[in-house]
This record gives sequence, structure tokens and C-alpha cells, in this order.
Amino acid sequence: MLNVRKDFPILTKVHNGHQIVYFDNAATTQKPYQVIHAIVDLLEHHNGNPHRGAHVLSIEAGELYDEAREAVRKFINAASTEEVIFVRNTTEALNLVARSYAEPRLKKGDKIVIPISEHHSDLVTWQRVCQKTGAELDYMYLDEEGHFTEEDLAKIDDKTKIVAFAAVSNVFGMKRPVKEIVAKAHAVGAIAIVDGAQSTPHMKTDVQDMDCDFFAFSGHKMCGSASTGVLYGKKAILEGMEPFLLGGDMIEYVKEQSTTFNELPFKFEAGSQNVEGAVALHAAIDYLEDLGMDNIEAHEEELTRHCLEGMKRIPHIHIIGSTDPAEKTGVITFTIDGVHPHDAATILDSFGIAIRSGHHCAQPLGAHLGVEASNRASFYIYNTLEEVDYFLEKLPLVRKQMG
Ligand code: PLP
Repeated sequence: MLNVRKDFPILTKVHNGHQIVYFDNAATTQKPYQVIHAIVDLLEHHNGNPHRGAHVLSIEAGELYDEAREAVRKFINAASTEEVIFVRNTTEALNLVARSYAEPRLKKGDKIVIPISEHHSDLVTWQRVCQKTGAELDYMYLDEEGHFTEEDLAKIDDKTKIVAFAAVSNVFGMKRPVKEIVAKAHAVGAIAIVDGAQSTPHMKTDVQDMDCDFFAFSGHKMCGSASTGVLYGKKAILEGMEPFLLGGDMIEYVKEQSTTFNELPFKFEAGSQNVEGAVALHAAIDYLEDLGMDNIEAHEEELTRHCLEGMKRIPHIHIIGSTDPAEKTGVITFTIDGVHPHDAATILDSFGIAIRSGHHCAQPLGAHLGVEASNRASFYIYNTLEEVDYFLEKLPLVRKQMG
């Protein structure tokens, strides 16, 4: 098991007399000193607006920004930094693809296919594209455990122009057969868009091996800072796309009535950029790579196995989706008979345990399953088996406290 708690100052926080147990990592992760110090170092010594000035601070900030992009390229194995676009988060990345790729290309008679389990950022975006273009949004409804079925995959047909799906669902926590689905999309001439928000922090990412056309993820879910995300796109596709936002930096030459645009990736990075975010993401990548992505995956699988075994022994708990730890990252979504998820989360918070409650930004899945709200415990590199035991000890008290 990994042993990294000393790197995370927030984990010593005491709430209600209990040391905090942070199990809301699918929402956002905590930050190690290495990331915090990298941000402070930038702000204390190198802060400037990158690529905009001839002075030392602009140049240093620009170098750090460029180095961060190269670190991301290596981390996801993109062929070139031209394919790595910094955005605010996964949501913005997917909106960029929807607006700049999908809207100008799709038309009536075309289809976008997505699983019913998608996060709203990978669902509402496609709804809007369909509303604007007349294309149809077709859902893969998955089996009871959250797996793709033959019937689901058959929806990817000749009418399909886009297949979008999360590499790991934020509700089921299940790892998807990414390569198989990407190949299926390509076989019918569609593009494949992979939402990596819940996979990138937890396992190795290789966009060339996946062969996906676009890949999106968020820095804050992998020890980076808020409002830092990445869109990967294949160069040939990005080159053919209109810019998403217009303004400074994304231009080559502006005349009174027309503009030519900058080369990749700058064409898609309008305005002053989030250098702190890029530097934090670089530090986070270095940190995670030092631990080893395979070790991270194994650590989480162990926590998940232990937690699922314990939860199965507690009456009145229902786990949503597969209970096979080998096919999950550290995400366990569940309900407790007779207890509203918000009450469960509040009671556990009184013991210092932070879990999520609500619809997890996946309301169509909730409606499909008939489970409008649920709880979610999600693990990361600093969580321990002792914390899982503490959670398993307190979980049965939730129903007792509700009377
Ligand atoms: N996709 C999935 C699977 C997610 O879990 C999330 C966030 O929880 C997102 C997309 C959106 O991420 P962000 O809010 O960082 O844009």
C-alpha cells in the first residue's frame, strides 16, 4: 500500500473531534506539499503573463507553462504538444468539442451515442448539439451492473457520427472497455470522445493506444489545482476545427474586418492563461508518476476490495453497479434503506467522514435506475485500510441515528 499521508497537510484537519477521513475524491482531490509549493514558487519568483512580454517574468512564466504542457503530453502519451490544449476543466474541454467540432458538422439523420451513465458535462453538451443540429441523441442503457451490452454496442451504427463516454463512470466507478468502444466507433466512421475525468487520476493513460479522437480530464481530480483541465485532440482533427473562444493569444494576425488564427494548440487558448494551474498540474503529474500509476491503481483496488467486502456484510446497504473491485477504481456508490443520502452524509460528517450525496451530476442515470439520489465514497492515494475500517464501523450507526 502507498504511504503518502505526510505529504498532504489537510489530512491532519480535525472536524467535530475526529481527524477527517476524506472519501470524496471523485469530486476533487487534496493537494500534496509538492503541488502547493510549486504554486507558491511560481507566484513568489516567476509570475508574469506567458508569451506576451520580452521581460524576464513573462519569459519564465512562459517556460513553466510550456514545460507543463510537455509534462501532460508525456503523461497521456500524446504524439505532440500541439495536441494538448489547456482548458478550465473536463466540462470546458467537452464543450469545446461540442461547439467547435460537432455543431458545424452534424445534421438531421446523424446520431450521437452515449451511455446513460454519463456525467452531465458529457450529456447536456450533446443534448444541445442535437437540439441545434437536428441530430439524434441515442443512449446505451447498460445492464443492471452497469456493463455495456451487445444491444448497447449495436447502437453504434452507420448513422453514428460521435460516440462519447467516460473511461470510468463517476457513479459506477467501473473501468470501460475503451479500446473496444473506440474501435467500434471508428468502424462506422464515427469519432470517439473519451471523458477521462475519473480515469486519468487513477490509472495509466495512453491516448495513442486508445486511439480516441478526443480525451478530456481535470487537474483538480488528480492533486492539481482548481480550474485546470486538458483537452487532447488528434492534430488532423484539431486543425480542421474553428476556434472555440476568440480574443488574445489565439490569433496570428488581426485586420479590421478579418483575422487569421494562431497555430495549435494556441488557436484554442484564448486570453490570459491559468499558469498556476498548469504549474500545479505539472507538479501533480511528477508526484503521481513518482508513485507509479500502476501502484496507484493497485492501492485503490485494495481499498475498494476491503470496503466492498465490509459493506456487503452490513444490512440495508445497496451498492449501485458492479461489486467486482478488479473492474472498478476507488468509487463505491450506495443507498441505505430508509435513509435519505443527505442525512447519511450529514451523520457521517459528524464522525469526520466526508462522502458525497446527491445525484452525482448523472440525473438521467438516476431516473433510469429509479434511484434519484445516493451516497458515494471514493478513494485516493492517501486513503488507508484503517480509514475504511473506521467508515465500516460508523456506517451501521447511520440507520440507528435515524431511529
Ligand atoms: N466527467 C466525469 C466522469 C466526472 O466525474 C466529472 C466531475 O465529477 C466531470 C466530467 C466534470 O469535471 P469538471 O467539473 O472538473 O469539469
